Amino acid sequence: MKLQELLKRSFGFDSFRPLQREIMEDSLAGRDVFALLPTGGGKSLCYQLPALVRPGLTVVVSPLIALMKDQVDAMDVLGIPATCLNSSLDAGESERRWSRLERGEYRLLYVAPERLMLPGFLQDLRRRHVSLIAVDEAHCISEWGHDFRPEYRRLADVRDVLPDTPILALTATATERVRDDIIRQLRLRNPAVYVAGFNRPNLTYRVVAKHRAYEQVRDYAQARGAESGIVYCQSRKTAERLAERLSAEDIPARPYHAGLGADERNRHQELFLRDEIRVIAATVAFGMGINKPNVRFVIHYDLPKNIEGYYQETGRAGRDGLPAECLLLFGAGDTVKYAQFIEEKSDPNEQAVARRQLQEIVQYAESARCRRTELLGYFGERFQAGHCAACDNCISPRRTFDGTVPAQKFLSCVYRIRERSGFGVGLHHVVEVLTGASTEKVRRWRHEQLSTYGIGTEHTRPEWSAIGRELVRLGLLKQTTDHFSVLELTAEGWAVLKERTPVTLSRHMAPPPASATLVSSPAKRARGEPIRCDETLFERLKRLRKRLADERNVPAYIVFSDVSLRQMASDVPRDTPAFSRISGVGEKKLREFAEVFLAEITAYVEEQRTLRSVPSA
Ligand code: ADP
Ligand code: MG
Ligand code: ZN
Repeated sequence: MKLQELLKRSFGFDSFRPLQREIMEDSLAGRDVFALLPTGGGKSLCYQLPALVRPGLTVVVSPLIALMKDQVDAMDVLGIPATCLNSSLDAGESERRWSRLERGEYRLLYVAPERLMLPGFLQDLRRRHVSLIAVDEAHCISEWGHDFRPEYRRLADVRDVLPDTPILALTATATERVRDDIIRQLRLRNPAVYVAGFNRPNLTYRVVAKHRAYEQVRDYAQARGAESGIVYCQSRKTAERLAERLSAEDIPARPYHAGLGADERNRHQELFLRDEIRVIAATVAFGMGINKPNVRFVIHYDLPKNIEGYYQETGRAGRDGLPAECLLLFGAGDTVKYAQFIEEKSDPNEQAVARRQLQEIVQYAESARCRRTELLGYFGERFQAGHCAACDNCISPRRTFDGTVPAQKFLSCVYRIRERSGFGVGLHHVVEVLTGASTEKVRRWRHEQLSTYGIGTEHTRPEWSAIGRELVRLGLLKQTTDHFSVLELTAEGWAVLKERTPVTLSRHMAPPPASATLVSSPAKRARGEPIRCDETLFERLKRLRKRLADERNVPAYIVFSDVSLRQMASDVPRDTPAFSRISGVGEKKLREFAEVFLAEITAYVEEQRTLRSVPSA
């Protein structure tokens, strides 16, 4: 059967996502394939669907038990025979699964890498005729990745035991170094390499001045109705405290961080997956295991460590392709705190890396350019338009002002300091001189005698710092990347000083007048493919879905995604053929769920009709 037909019959989808078909076809042809698709790009389908076509067994290596369980549950509901073997099973259950494997009853087997590499395991599997090894989250094999797992390293030996079995490596991790490392470690042979763009069109990016952070998060979550979100915090304590306060104000929330016991962590994660709580307040420890497709917002309560992490964390929003929002609360205080943090590090290399990363993320946060263009640019991708219509800077461009005078003051101060002292200084000291501070360094270097000393009292110090950083971004100054981050004039900077070229600066981000401004109107979030539907019916279908999911002891999204429910609430199918056209409705789900969903829809439609026919008094 053709892949396309099978896609609708088994998964209920009408079309492939970008590159899915190509990846499947190459892999089915027996080639090794390396596939990099962004989060939510649909990597699982790339081995799940071909598993139905291939003779023999597809073995999927996956790093977390929670991830395996989730996928096996989803396969169950789709009617695809799949199982997993991991340390959470007792001996009896493992036995049962093995004997069913012996009988060839499964199409898919999920295993943890340490299990796969147990002596004899692969040899046993070889008798089962393994037709593909799919390595999911393949970046875990690389020491250069952020999720390195030593157990994954042992996968390097798979090739020796099963030399003829093709391998499919899947990841969402961007850097080239990790990419090359995966290919080398897994010893992929002349692999077909697929790299999708990193753009996530359904995500809206916004940065707002951090002001009263807790209230900002609370108001935001309150305004988002029943939607789920993740709030990333820098410390465990903040995560705990935030979850507590939100819960006390009727926004059910739980913390997640490495300081909690495994049981508690799993419980909180499970509550979130099952929509029992709305918000998870987490440190970066929370992430990879999260397949929840309907995370509608990701907030960064504190400044993320680096751009790559920021991209990964925000990537957990909107896997289902429906609009979702990423909000970064940016406060100058965080920057200072991090900088101090970095100074305390003992390893100078680590320090240099951290310093550069901090500079990059601050640059991102303060930039007046399109956020998407900046983010994608970081991964070496050019965003065609340079303007996305779905980030704060594109939706409401930052106001600018004629910054020629402050730029000249700043630049000449940098120049005068070097002229007098014969060495350059960092941004901080330039600001001290401009604002006429009497610090120990100012006195020691006699900088109070400079003509530029104290000429900048019309701006506050944070304002001057922002201006300085913007001059760096504009290329008028450059900052050395060594320990001292010394400022130097560039040729362009010189030109501004000598020729008095006008300079336009963007307004320093002021704290929002009221936290209400944080919540963008739906029109302003419109992005991706929002499905306009009857919200009342949608809520009702969600309740039905929750009940069915609880009966089956699975998360709601395994029954149907939000996409499916929204489509039902928009198309309002009234019979089986119409229901089967809904995205996500394959053969098995049609048999199992059509009747009860159609009944609910019909009941709703009838109620509306009676309501309308009652003459109003
Ligand atoms: P990834 O592992 O790349 O982050 P997933 O495999 O978890 O992504 O898929 C994300 C979501 O997209 C899932 O809910 C999945 O059912 C859905 N999906 C995948 N492929 C398609 C498709 N071709 N059409 C519609 N939905 C899809
Ligand atoms: Mg995945
Ligand atoms: Zn933009």
